[in-house]
Amino acid sequence: MQMNYVIAGPPGSGKGTQAELLAAKFKLPHISTGVIFREIQTQDTELGRRVKKLLDEGKLVDNPTVYEVVLQKLNTPELRKGFVFDGFPRNIEQAGFLAKYKELSKCIFIDVSDAECIKRMSSRRVCSDCKANYNVIYIKPKKEGICDKCGGKLVIRDDSTPEAIKVRMQEYYKNTKPMIDYYEKKGVLLRVNGEQPINDVFKEIMNGLK
Ligand code: AMP
Repeated sequence: MQMNYVIAGPPGSGKGTQAELLAAKFKLPHISTGVIFREIQTQDTELGRRVKKLLDEGKLVDNPTVYEVVLQKLNTPELRKGFVFDGFPRNIEQAGFLAKYKELSKCIFIDVSDAECIKRMSSRRVCSDCKANYNVIYIKPKKEGICDKCGGKLVIRDDSTPEAIKVRMQEYYKNTKPMIDYYEKKGVLLRVNGEQPINDVFKEIMNGLK
């Protein structure tokens, strides 16, 4: 029996953190399309530049590009036991694409209010030198505005400007929310309260999967 999990939620819901915990618990590969695209955007290629523009604007990457990236993962033997997809699928079409290849065990939906998501995303900072990530509410640097690791200046991430955050929320409601409703109707949705400490969210996930 494969353990095929998808972690979904609005931007800033902490899906990456929960996906990592779940993957470690069951020794499954954690595949985050967000991480893959953040890596691709650093490449000095036509694709890299196109992806960077979309990410900085808060828009979703087009489905054909997403499918190309995901197919490379779906075809690898490391997914034999299962997987934890994080940030994929992100719309109903992508859910249909995944269904052609894998049967989903559960879509875990991390439920967080708009206000909290916006607060979390607005507090993200990145070091302009070493690119270390911070959050001025949750992972505070020792000295305000300065990187603990290298002393560099902390700045707002390109993808976390107020405009980008607004677009990311709009994309979520237009594309991802209908996918959540679709999984709920299919009876494969596990909804958890994402506004609790990290370990409590994870406990709720583990209880829901029993
Ligand atoms: P995330 O870290 O999951 O919030 O993803 C960061 C960004 O990567 C998103 O705002 C999108 O631009 C892009 N992205 C990640 N996954 C997908 C996906 N499945 N479909 C389209 N765009 C995606």
